Amino acid sequence: MKKNHLLTPGPTQVPTEVLLSMSKPTIHHRTPEFMAIFKEMNENLKYVFQTQNDIFTFASSGTGAMEATVANLLSAGDTAICVQSGKFGERWTEICKAYSVKPVVIDVEWGYAVDPAAIKKAINENKEAKVVFTTLCETSTGVLTDIKAIAEITKNTDVVIVTDAISALGGVELKTDEWGIDVVVCGSQKSLMIPPGLAFCSVSKKAWKLVEASKSPRYYFDMRAAKKALDKDDTAYTPAVTLCLGLNQALKMIKSETLEKAIARQSKLATALRIAVVALGLKVYAKNPSDVVTSISLPETINGGTLVKTMREVYGVGIAGGQDHLKGKIIRIATMGYMNEFDVIIGVSCLEIVLKKMGYEFEAGIGVGAVEKELLK
Ligand SMILES: *Cc1c(COP(=O)(O)O)cnc(C)c1O
Repeated sequence: MKKNHLLTPGPTQVPTEVLLSMSKPTIHHRTPEFMAIFKEMNENLKYVFQTQNDIFTFASSGTGAMEATVANLLSAGDTAICVQSGKFGERWTEICKAYSVKPVVIDVEWGYAVDPAAIKKAINENKEAKVVFTTLCETSTGVLTDIKAIAEITKNTDVVIVTDAISALGGVELKTDEWGIDVVVCGSQKSLMIPPGLAFCSVSKKAWKLVEASKSPRYYFDMRAAKKALDKDDTAYTPAVTLCLGLNQALKMIKSETLEKAIARQSKLATALRIAVVALGLKVYAKNPSDVVTSISLPETINGGTLVKTMREVYGVGIAGGQDHLKGKIIRIATMGYMNEFDVIIGVSCLEIVLKKMGYEFEAGIGVGAVEKELLK
């Protein structure tokens, strides 16, 4: 019998309470029953997003909300600054190109976070740039961006700051209004603890001016239609009813734990995991590691693809490998969302077992022991 443990940086584990909330017969969306839940869901989203801005919910994966952001904020011929420090930062550039928006790319070496000074320089050198696109946790490398410092730079300019917080929202600190983040993009299947299929954008008043000015073609993802409906606690088109029920339940769980404690819990788990990595003689790949996903550099003798496949297929423990040039060279283990200390122990224990079988030498149990010692502190 194989029992599965999902420790991938999306999709993530879904709590039983959330699964149960989605197992009821489908209700119609134009009913007082659904609209009351939708209203509550939006209020709870504002709590987790730490904002009073409107938050639009789309039935898509996270990338849909990224595309919605580009399509609504910019027009063909506009310029935007795109920070590329990994796979997901590159996606901003690609979407901009798809909409004929001129990207000014800030290329950051993978594993490193962007230096806010580089953004300041790009803004000064490209006065026509309307938006700067960033990634809060670059899930492909595990790096956390200092978004607060970047928002300090954009705050007193006309430049709108957008952050892809798809993996990090609910897992790391992000004070949308206090820090002045104009657009926060999120998805459902990471730290928010529900299955894939919902995507979100919070939009500030400053960003809304760009939405009204944009000439880009848009229909389903038109934020103007979404806002008109949202103002009446409604949706422009059929919402993903079942996922909304699950999301509301998940948000209620975050609220009852409190966002602060949820973030502290994930931070504690990530700290223990990083300590285990070092105890095993391995290295954390990210220079400024996030607490939602830990990237681990592998010794040359260990093939990351085989390691990930063996953990999943033989032991049912799902982790992720590296992307692009990091394929086979790193592995990524999530500590996002619905996780506690025993999820980390399962991950580290399975990693140890498979590493041993692959011939990597270390004292068995040293990683698990390190996790326990850290958690007992
Ligand atoms: C997962 C992820 C995405 C992509 O989201 P999809 O739901 O796969 O479209 C984008 N950005 C970041 C930072 C992510 O972690």
